[in-house]
Amino acid sequence: MRTTNGVCKYCGQMRIVQVSEDKEYTQEDLDRIAESECDCDIASMMRKRNEAYGNLEGMLDERFPDDSIDEKEKHIKKLLLAAGKEMSQMYIDAIGLTSGKEKFSLSLTQKLTFKLKITNTETEVQET
Ligand SMILES: [Zn+2]
Repeated sequence: MRTTNGVCKYCGQMRIVQVSEDKEYTQEDLDRIAESECDCDIASMMRKRNEAYGNLEGMLDERFPDDSIDEKEKHIKKLLLAAGKEMSQMYIDAIGLTSGKEKFSLSLTQKLTFKLKITNTETEVQET
């Protein structure tokens, strides 16, 4: 290991980072390491948001396992993941999708947990 410097892009603080001897790092790589270790408020919040996104991937993999979903579900999963990514980066708060009789809504809560709601709008009417 050797030590070098990286700058956290959120607070501008220069930090000493430990890197492997036999690997090349660009300044961008070093800054990313600094940012991932920085204890400023924004860096730690971003870490929590990235962790939440990781949890979302897990949740969607469980709900839509790649080996057993159809083409339609593949697209829904892809969109939910893309939206989740934007939510974890704070660009959007929630998204709603409709596909056939199903409605999907995904949001990021104040506690930084993702909430997926699936509603089946199929209405059964019987008359005699
Ligand atoms: Zn920082």
